[in-house]
Amino acid sequence: MAATILVVEDEPAIQELISYGLRQAGHETFCAGDAEQAMKIVNDVLPDLVLLDWMLPGMSGIELAKILRRAPRTKNIPIIMLTARTEEFDKISGLEVGADDYITKPFSPRELAARIKAVLRRRSPESADDVVEINELRLDPVTHRVTVNDHEVILGPTEFRLLYFLMTHTERVHSRSQLLDGVWGDHVFVEDRTVDVHIRRLRKILEPVGKDGLVQTVRGTGYRLSVGRA
Ligand code: CA
Repeated sequence: MAATILVVEDEPAIQELISYGLRQAGHETFCAGDAEQAMKIVNDVLPDLVLLDWMLPGMSGIELAKILRRAPRTKNIPIIMLTARTEEFDKISGLEVGADDYITKPFSPRELAARIKAVLRRRSPESADDVVEINELRLDPVTHRVTVNDHEVILGPTEFRLLYFLMTHTERVHSRSQLLDGVWGDHVFVEDRTVDVHIRRLRKILEPVGKDGLVQTVRGTGYRLSVGRA
């Protein structure tokens, strides 16, 4: 799965090392040393994925991730944060701005390649072109649009993936760890309760359109999407 990848990293040696590894793996790469340069490249080439260093001169990686997540054109570009830090605070901040994964420096080119592959696969699973529709709730994986009777429902990237997973695996009860595997993929620093948070957000978004009842809690087990009553 060859992709266009933007590497945002201010240390030239690391930037070159990463970009060399990616090119060897068949990807096309662009490099930026700061957020300003990165924005320019994003606007020019609209990459398939951004590798984003946390600590950058000037605007931080987190701030840049927030900007990318806000703009309609860039909000669905997968982001993998590169970080030398491991504190809980950092993981939470990264999650809140919608990074798809993290990798802690130093990492091997193989490890990075595996993460990239996982994120890209998660973003475009096979049969990704099929629109899913359940009880007037319609999800288009290509345009990332979710509608109910032509009324658009705006979801964050994680809620979108969660809903997509549930809509393509209906009627089955999924435990929190199964949802973490299916929606967040492996290698993520997420706790079980994160699933609850995103389920709550998803229901809240679906409530005004009367579809929150589709997402059901199965006590002591997990969650399911069902057209039947809870
Ligand atoms: Ca740095």
